[in-house]
Amino acid sequence: MLLALLDILRCPAPHDESALIARVDAGEGGHMRDGVLGCPVCHREYAVRGGVVYWADAPREETRNAPRAEREALPQAEDGLRLAALLAVNEARRPIVLAGARAAHASQVGSFTEAHLVLVNPSGSVVPTGTSVFEGCLTLPFAGQSVAAVALDAEHDRLLASAVAAMMPGARAVCPSRTPLPAGLRELTRDDADWVAERVGSAAATSGGFTPLRRNTTPQ
Ligand SMILES: [Zn+2]
Repeated sequence: MLLALLDILRCPAPHDESALIARVDAGEGGHMRDGVLGCPVCHREYAVRGGVVYWADAPREETRNAPRAEREALPQAEDGLRLAALLAVNEARRPIVLAGARAAHASQVGSFTEAHLVLVNPSGSVVPTGTSVFEGCLTLPFAGQSVAAVALDAEHDRLLASAVAAMMPGARAVCPSRTPLPAGLRELTRDDADWVAERVGSAAATSGGFTPLRRNTTPQ
C-alpha cells in the first residue's frame, strides 16, 4: 500500500468520517508491506500483509455480489485501452480505483497516467508493482472528493454509492450498463457493456478546476 494514500483513507465503519493511523512494521520505497491501519474512533484495526490491505474478515466471496462462475471473461488488451480512454486517466492527478475484473487492466491503464492505481477486491492474482491492493472492501474507504476515476465490474456495483462520495467533481466512473445510474453522476455515454458518467460538482467545488482534500480534523 502506498503510504501517501493514508491522507485520503477513511475508516469504512459506520461512524463519522475518521482518518486512520498507520503502524508500519515493514515497508520500502514509500510503500507499506506489513503493519496495521487503526481507527482512533472505533478502534478497529485493518491488517496490511504482503502489501495488501484487508478491510474486512469477510470471505472473498462475500465481497462479490455474483457467483464466481459468472465472472466476466478475461480482459483483452483493447479493453484496457478502452477503459483508460473512458476514464480519461491521462488527466488524472488523484488515485484511480479499479475494482474486481477491472483490476486486470491495471498495467494498460497505468501506462497512460501518472496517477496511483488502487485495485479493490481484484479478480486476478497478477498485481502490477507500484499499485495498492485492497481486499475485503464492502465500501470504498476514501475521503469525500478524493479520487479521480472509478471503474466497477458487475460484482462490485454495490460499491457505487461510496464511489460517488469519493469521486472529485468531474471524476469519471465506468460501470456495467445494467447498473442504475445513481444521483450525483451525469451520464456521458453508454454501450451494451458499460456506461460512463462524471461526478456532478457544486459550482464552488469546481471553480478553478481544483478541489482541495478535506483535512483530517480528528485528534491523533
Ligand atoms: Zn472506525
